[in-house]
Amino acid sequence: MPANSMRKRTIAVLGSRSVGKSSLIVQFIENHFVESYYPTIEATFSKAVKYNGVEYDCDIVDTAGQDEFSLLNSKHAIGIHGYVLVYSITSRSSFEMVKIVYDKIADFCGKNDIPCVIVGTKTDLSSSRQVPADEGEEFAKQSKAAWVETSAKNNVNVGKVFELCLAEIERRAPGGGQP
Ligand code: GDP
Repeated sequence: MPANSMRKRTIAVLGSRSVGKSSLIVQFIENHFVESYYPTIEATFSKAVKYNGVEYDCDIVDTAGQDEFSLLNSKHAIGIHGYVLVYSITSRSSFEMVKIVYDKIADFCGKNDIPCVIVGTKTDLSSSRQVPADEGEEFAKQSKAAWVETSAKNNVNVGKVFELCLAEIERRAPGGGQP
């Protein structure tokens, strides 16, 4: 299938600063782990992803990171098909931020059923865990979202995040009304 006829899906990655959003995306796109920490401004990455036998042309938007005072704006909603909301399992406050960001998206989009994956990162740091797995899973269940825990460092469940996101998008809008 020629590239220009692939289905286009845009996925925004949100969450507190330094939870591992960029590391997750870089591991997914470039297959390596970035040790050094540099704050992200905002960048979009592209990758062809095959899910359920269909090839999707995915644009993945890495955001600067949110705090309780950040306002979502239209660039976090218009043209976005699905969301990846990231917390670190080593930071309870980052988990609370995911809940706040989820509510902001729901308000902005004017609906509760948002194509979304809740992601707990840094599972390799399990000795510093502050968010039990079942709490993450429970919040996702309440929000009708998918949930997964990952380690970008050890490349665990990284591809799964984006597959789940495509699944959530397709579940609500099969074919997306687009070619
Ligand atoms: P962002 O601000 O959310 O984009 O976070 P970054 O991707 O820049 O990561 C913040 C810090 O956490 C960096 O020092 C990363 O190396 C580190 N980090 C990210 N993912 C992991 C992981 O899976 N395991 C460990 N141990 N550290 C990670």
